[in-house]
Amino acid sequence: MDQIVSFCKRRGFAYPGSAIYGGFANSYTYGPYGTELKKNIKDLWWDTFVRQREDMVGIDGDILLHPRTWKASGHLDSFNDQLVDCKNCKARLRADHLVEGQLDIECEGLADEDVTKLIEENDIKCPKCGKKDFTPVRKFNLMFETQMAKTHSASSGQAADGVAYLRPETAQAIFLEFKNIVDTMRVKLPFGIGQIGKAFRNEITPGNFIFRRLEFEQMEIEYFIEEKDWKSQFDAWQKAMQQWCKSIGLDSDKLHDYEHPEEKLSHYSKRTVDIEYDFPFGRSELYGLAYRTDFDLSQHEQFSKQTLRIHDEQKGEKILPHVIEPTFGVDRTILALLCDGYTEEKLDDGSERVVMKLSPLIAPVKVAVLPLLKKDGLPEKAREVFTLLQHFGNIEYDEGGSIGKRYRRQDEIGTPVCVTVDHDSLEDESVTIRDRDNMQQERVKISELAKKLGKKYFSQ
Ligand code: ATP
Repeated sequence: MDQIVSFCKRRGFAYPGSAIYGGFANSYTYGPYGTELKKNIKDLWWDTFVRQREDMVGIDGDILLHPRTWKASGHLDSFNDQLVDCKNCKARLRADHLVEGQLDIECEGLADEDVTKLIEENDIKCPKCGKKDFTPVRKFNLMFETQMAKTHSASSGQAADGVAYLRPETAQAIFLEFKNIVDTMRVKLPFGIGQIGKAFRNEITPGNFIFRRLEFEQMEIEYFIEEKDWKSQFDAWQKAMQQWCKSIGLDSDKLHDYEHPEEKLSHYSKRTVDIEYDFPFGRSELYGLAYRTDFDLSQHEQFSKQTLRIHDEQKGEKILPHVIEPTFGVDRTILALLCDGYTEEKLDDGSERVVMKLSPLIAPVKVAVLPLLKKDGLPEKAREVFTLLQHFGNIEYDEGGSIGKRYRRQDEIGTPVCVTVDHDSLEDESVTIRDRDNMQQERVKISELAKKLGKKYFSQ
């Protein structure tokens, strides 16, 4: 992980946030290459799951929703972690992590008092200072609260007057707009609504770089179905998620399905399978797939007193659809791709190079155009080539330093192909293309270049 973190800073993928003020814990800013990578992932996801499917539409909902949303969804009451403080060093810890890290016991579902007892009765020490002096375990709600200038009527909810919450997941905006989509779009079951956006969680122990953040991005789908179809739809989405992982180039050996045992399922779920990835710090959740039944729609019906039922033509009656939810974390996708792609290679001449083996479909720079020298008309010719290739996306032009160093720099940021313009190019209207992974070079006519690169690197 240290290698990845320092690579990200060194090569403009992600910087520690607010560094000029001494840093702000667990905040990161995606740098120019990280931002391109992130945008490419989100665009590919949107194309794959929204634009290319007739059964999908997309929305872009607000981060601040009516506070009763979170009462209805169960977040106000049960989106909690168990928290414990070390009285000696003041470390704030997740009680389940503390216990599970030192005893062979799972804390899921245990009451606060039971976890307190486990900590007291066993030889559990603070991982930071080694002392055994903890506060009792208490619940901590993970939603960030904020104050609104204009107060809501909170008479029927439990949210305090004027308090709003930064959404802890993007899903709920989709449920709130379900009826609008049905009324305004020509959708029929089964159909899905997709959304990409920020979510916020006041995690007690954020960490592992961008894996567990307070502010992160999700790509989520709520797929509305008839109850009878849930098993086949769940299977279809599991396959679609696996196919997505393959399409972005994740190593299938590092991906694992984790089926949640029935007793550990969330309050809304009848089946949940996580796609886990072997991160350098261990196997952890990358994505999730859940069958949420009709829990959310029926809760919102109850709390909003609006009917969210739709007409079922076959049955001739109004039904409340059930939901399959595939959810993808953007930041964890980036981290998995960087961990997967980061490769240190020893070359035949004894030198070493770092290569970021990213799929060309999501690489932050698609093509680098490099004049061999910064003179003799080569930059001008290279600029012409640069213009020809711009439709591939983010193309980089680089004329500074030795060609070897420029190749290494592009290898490190994952550019799949470099195009070099040399003196011969002025005569024969050809350029050299160099492949990132095998470093092989090939001479190509400028007139055939775009077609060749498109076919070799950028066709899906
Ligand atoms: P975990 O068990 O790791 O806390 P979760 O089960 O709470 O995750 P979900 O509620 O299923 O996560 O959220 C959907 C997706 O959002 C996750 O699969 C993950 O990719 C991403 N995600 C969740 N929490 C965070 C976070 N704090 N930082 C970055 N990404 C996150």
